[in-house]
Amino acid sequence: MENKAYIALGSNVGDRFGYLTQAIILLESHEMITVVNTSSVYETDPVGYTDQDQFLNMAIQVETNLSPFELLDTCLRIELKLGRKRQIKWGPRTLDLDILLYNQENIETEKLTIPHPRMSERAFVILPLLEMDPSITLPTMREPLKNCLLSIPDREGVRIWKQKNGEDVFALIES
Ligand code: ADP
Ligand code: MG
Repeated sequence: MENKAYIALGSNVGDRFGYLTQAIILLESHEMITVVNTSSVYETDPVGYTDQDQFLNMAIQVETNLSPFELLDTCLRIELKLGRKRQIKWGPRTLDLDILLYNQENIETEKLTIPHPRMSERAFVILPLLEMDPSITLPTMREPLKNCLLSIPDREGVRIWKQKNGEDVFALIES
């Protein structure tokens, strides 16, 4: 497949790990998407709207023949399928799928912004990404992403919840 993208997954309602797992299975079952890497799963204190339960967060790397907009539509459809209801901004959700990076493209439209606008301020996004590729860079930044970690206050609110074991993409799900 032609394009390389990174997607962030988050859940803080119900069977959180089940929602993350289901989302990966649904993405992988799309014939134009292959999941090529997954991070560990992290448990994180909520940011923004803080009166809500803790999140599980992780990131995955995919290869795809879908355009960025087609990939977004696929992600939004999977969110709905897994019971996402849009209520409070940044509030509780069964599943959040955010496209972090798509090749080194820089897209700024009303519907879609890539790189994801707040990713360089969020330890729960940066840590899983760096776990998969420590030298990852953003098309909008001169410095490597890892340099952002130094200036982020919420690092302590992000803890490994389920360590990834082995090289197999689905080891995370099967274990
Ligand atoms: P958030 O993820 O910031 O909590 P939502 O998940 O409710 O917010 O997303 C709201 C909208 O954000 C989506 O309907 C989508 O059109 C838009 N959006 C813009 N850029 C992206 C991106 N890179 N990945 C996912 N959604 C995006
Ligand atoms: Mg989202």
